[in-house]
Amino acid sequence: MSWFIRKEKGISTPTEMKREAPDGLWYQCSNCKKISATREHKLNAYTCIHCNYHEKIGSEAYFELLFDDNEFEELNSELTSGDPLKFTDTKPYPGRVQATMAKTGLKDAVRTSHGKMNGSPIVIAAMDFNFIGGSMGSVVGEKIARAITYSLEHKIPFLMISKSGGARMMEAGFSLMQMAKTSARLAQLLEAKIPYISMLTDPTTGGVTASYAMLGDFNISEPGALIGFAGPRVIRETIGKDLPKDFQSAEFVLEHGFLDFIVDRKDLKDKLTSLLTMLR
Ligand SMILES: [Zn+2]
Repeated sequence: MSWFIRKEKGISTPTEMKREAPDGLWYQCSNCKKISATREHKLNAYTCIHCNYHEKIGSEAYFELLFDDNEFEELNSELTSGDPLKFTDTKPYPGRVQATMAKTGLKDAVRTSHGKMNGSPIVIAAMDFNFIGGSMGSVVGEKIARAITYSLEHKIPFLMISKSGGARMMEAGFSLMQMAKTSARLAQLLEAKIPYISMLTDPTTGGVTASYAMLGDFNISEPGALIGFAGPRVIRETIGKDLPKDFQSAEFVLEHGFLDFIVDRKDLKDKLTSLLTMLR
């Protein structure tokens, strides 16, 4: 069967001649570069079947993973950003928000919903990194604060899934006020003895780490997630020393006492359920 055997050696195909598989059929892991079927990757909770790399996912995927039968009701879904500072960088802020909305189909960098997880009611807020770097502006803060209020009023646990570059530059001081507002609302939740679980996903940094993300009754994370406050370059320049290799990884942060545990995303729903059963 000569046409199965390559007789000539050194045949190479120029890049432009190579046919790519249609988008959406295959997933290439950004860590180990190996290929798996998109469907299989999704069934595996968007973790690599070869190396267990946890792909970054957004609110839509987390809601589907956690809410029973993907049934939930979104809270305050129509809130959108104003432009209190008339901010312009490379383009005016309102234009940037409009363009991001059109590109992502999202209204801002967090979605908050309530529904059932393994039969028990829960409120989940999940951030979307593809909306201006998951940055925390007034809308993010307000939606989280209102979701906490919903938890309080209905006496159901609150789960926050953070994924953020920190405060939103274009809202400057207004962004920073969200840290105080969400923290104060969480204190009320604590007073009412309603469980709050904070999950920090890849990446969680800046003002988000410095406020609601670190205030959980349990602070948990996914394997390999980047967690920090300031970036490594800033820290290196400030302390004038080199940093350890896995600095700011979830594993490093766990070892230094800032996390309670790291959970594999495939076990997330069941782990959360048994934790909340224990806290009830
Ligand atoms: Zn992989």
